[in-house]
Amino acid sequence: MAHVIGDDCISCGSCEAECPVSAISEGDGKYEINADACIDCGACAAQCPVGAISEA
Ligand code: SF4
Ligand code: SF4
Repeated sequence: MAHVIGDDCISCGSCEAECPVSAISEGDGKYEINADACIDCGACAAQCPVGAISEA
């Protein structure tokens, strides 16, 4: 399992800075979570201003 970023994402970048294992990356303004690297700590979801991150 891993956390995932949904369509509500406004590309603020807050989650990328919070991830302890650098599982979040950005390309062409779209943020994604690498499911293989994510350890489900929840830090990104707690930081997201629009609640776009949830557990898969
Ligand atoms: Fe990174 Fe934790 Fe979010 Fe997974 S749940 S992407 S490990 S901050
Ligand atoms: Fe998108 Fe939320 Fe991450 Fe900001 S914190 S880039 S809104 S998922």
